[in-house]
Amino acid sequence: MKADYHIHTSFSDDCDYPMEEVIQEAISKGLDEICITEHVDYGVHFDRDKLPEDRKEELLKENKVNVDYPAYLARLEELKEKYKNQITVKKGLEYGIQVSTIPDFENLYKTYDLDFIINSCHQADNLEFWNQDYQKGKSQRDYHVGYYTEILNVAKNYHHYNVLGHLDHQIRYDLQGEYLTKEIDDLIDEILVTAIKDDKGIEVNTSGFHYKIGDFHPSKSILKRYYDLGGKIITIGSDSHTPGRVGDKVDEAKEALKTIGFKEFCTFENMKPIFHQL
Ligand SMILES: [Zn+2]
Ligand SMILES: [Zn+2]
Repeated sequence: MKADYHIHTSFSDDCDYPMEEVIQEAISKGLDEICITEHVDYGVHFDRDKLPEDRKEELLKENKVNVDYPAYLARLEELKEKYKNQITVKKGLEYGIQVSTIPDFENLYKTYDLDFIINSCHQADNLEFWNQDYQKGKSQRDYHVGYYTEILNVAKNYHHYNVLGHLDHQIRYDLQGEYLTKEIDDLIDEILVTAIKDDKGIEVNTSGFHYKIGDFHPSKSILKRYYDLGGKIITIGSDSHTPGRVGDKVDEAKEALKTIGFKEFCTFENMKPIFHQL
């Protein structure tokens, strides 16, 4: 079983790659299954049917909109059927979730049936990490602690998800270099233990190589920590946004997991894990 469980298509605000071409690329790369995981980022982005009238044009122009759920799911169903003899396509979303937006995600979860949900942290206090809005004016210690504390508090209070996305990916946006302390290690341990107790997993996001971090998100040392703490639920995803990246480094991720000691990885159906031998 070769699966890529973190893929964006042009239904995501930051991607122009049409879904059908993404699926064709996945087939050409020999993938057995993919899960498409479009972005939802309440707090900084709006649902299309709830755009404030006075800012509608500006928000649409700046692409500050969540995936158009009905259009996305309809297109996915259509293509899933069309390519069903070549590949399995699953319905997913990637939540950019914050403590303050948990109620919005609870509502969303009740509205649509999905196979798989990634719980990621892209913002805290409605400030983005990718453009430095959150880090601005904070010490390196404070923005690292702030990032992991947000994840921990979400994991303690929100339960309708399957895996924590790219757990350490804010290092991609850290302009001050590496930051490793006991305080951060302890926070990461607490997040992992919280997820494990809640029957949740983590993903191995391979995009760290594309972004020249030289490791997976999270790093091999965090993956090892997850293993040592008893973690078993793990998915592998490329976080592909552009042509050529579907299925990127999925085989390498499997090898890395085996080296750590993991025996299985997961795909999902109706939010339930299916285990496959690595
Ligand atoms: Zn993400
Ligand atoms: Zn993503």
